[in-house]
Amino acid sequence: MTKPQNVLKYCPKCGSSKFEFEGERSFKCADCGFHFFINGAAAVAALIENEKGELLLSVRAFDPNKGMLDLPGGFVDPNESAEHALYREIKEELNLDVEKIDFLVSFPNEYIFSGYTVYTCDLAFRCRVKGWENMKIQDDISDVKFVNKDNLDWNLVCADSIKKIIKAHWQL
Ligand SMILES: [Zn+2]
Repeated sequence: MTKPQNVLKYCPKCGSSKFEFEGERSFKCADCGFHFFINGAAAVAALIENEKGELLLSVRAFDPNKGMLDLPGGFVDPNESAEHALYREIKEELNLDVEKIDFLVSFPNEYIFSGYTVYTCDLAFRCRVKGWENMKIQDDISDVKFVNKDNLDWNLVCADSIKKIIKAHWQL
């Protein structure tokens, strides 16, 4: 019931109730002709390892999935590059500076926020940070954990796309 076709009832341009869902991914207003597309929102996820080769996972401070494990990252802002979103999110969440990034893989995901399904395309990058001494836990995370293949509790990972990204990183 959180899908766009169940939530969006009125044309956002003219307010008409004849805002009709046209199959997979668009709405069209029968009154004013406004054509509205549902696209995957770009989001970035960072794979950062410490000196021991352990992977940094964040603990989500807020819903959805409060308390679960995630990769640092977030949505790409309007008019922002994926690379800039990555630098910005790592600074906002961890107060760390990224010095090298390499694109790894992407997976689609569905993220329910405010009772509405947001479709995302999660872009995963391997990142190296300049140093750990300034790390601060802030913004929308409450803690970090460093994990490896042997001790990660997969049930605590917040989304299938994030599990797939971690598996791709570890070549599982
Ligand atoms: Zn309209």
